[in-house]
Amino acid sequence: MDCLFCKIAANEIPSKKIYEDEMILAYHDIAPQSDVHALVIPKEHIASSANDINSSNSSVIAYIFEKIPEIAKILGVDSYRIINNCGEKAGQTVKHLHFHILSGDNLGERLV
Ligand code: 5GP
Ligand code: ZN
Repeated sequence: MDCLFCKIAANEIPSKKIYEDEMILAYHDIAPQSDVHALVIPKEHIASSANDINSSNSSVIAYIFEKIPEIAKILGVDSYRIINNCGEKAGQTVKHLHFHILSGDNLGERLV
């Protein structure tokens, strides 16, 4: 499968890593939209988008959310926004399930 984030997970494309274990990888977004902008992915291509989450693959999603506080700590932030764009009309450009972690002084109360 020709998937950009699978290639990043396989180290075929370099990334600025923040956290890595056997299940997940967190790295800095190449085009940050806030002071801190990280991406968290399951290493395995278990889902192209949140529409593909089901009972057989959701444990890694739970695991990602268990690890996000640790990733935020490494980033040195305690206020942050977690975003998932699901589908092209919602702004999804890479079809490998991922969560954005955004933090910085420019985050207001409005979501969009
Ligand atoms: P989406 O738009 O699918 O929700 O998020 C995809 C994100 O991946 C975008 O924020 C984009 O800047 C980021 N991105 C695209 N290509 C690369 C890349 O090669 N490396 C990294 N680190 N981020 C990327
Ligand atoms: Zn993939």
